[in-house]
Amino acid sequence: MERSGRRTRRLRRAVATAAFGVAILLTGVMTASGGAEKAPGACVPTAGDAEGPFYKPGAPVRASTGSGLSVRGKVRGAPDCRPLPGARVEWWHANAAGDYDDAHRGTLSAAAGGEYSFTTDIPGKYPFRPRHIHFKASAPGFAPLTTQLYLRGGETSVTFDLVLSPSTPPSR
Ligand code: FE
Repeated sequence: MERSGRRTRRLRRAVATAAFGVAILLTGVMTASGGAEKAPGACVPTAGDAEGPFYKPGAPVRASTGSGLSVRGKVRGAPDCRPLPGARVEWWHANAAGDYDDAHRGTLSAAAGGEYSFTTDIPGKYPFRPRHIHFKASAPGFAPLTTQLYLRGGETSVTFDLVLSPSTPPSR
């Protein structure tokens, strides 16, 4: 009786251990498939922001609109983060006096890996706004993005990735 009781307990423990193992396996499988659906490393589109009244189309193609601040980043496509070579990046910001002028407008094409970079003056402040640089980014097959990069002041370099949304959401 004593011996068979011990055997039963041992058997019960073995069954419990096996069940626990199966549960762990199932959890692993479920996590893996959930992760696949979510696409690990998926890119979240950059939030849009106000264009403001000072955008002018046709800013010259150049990599410098001043000095003191280096701005770089990558233009990518959501949801898979693919680099968007040739994407058009436009920026404009206020001068030291806080006024918008043509000297602080530029256009660039993203490089083969989606990279862009330019140097510029530290954007000036104007009433009721933190220092900022306005951006527009566009690429074929993606919705144009208009946004702003905010600066604390005192930065000499900043990184700002621009993630665009597909112009037609992928069908499910
Ligand atoms: Fe502005």
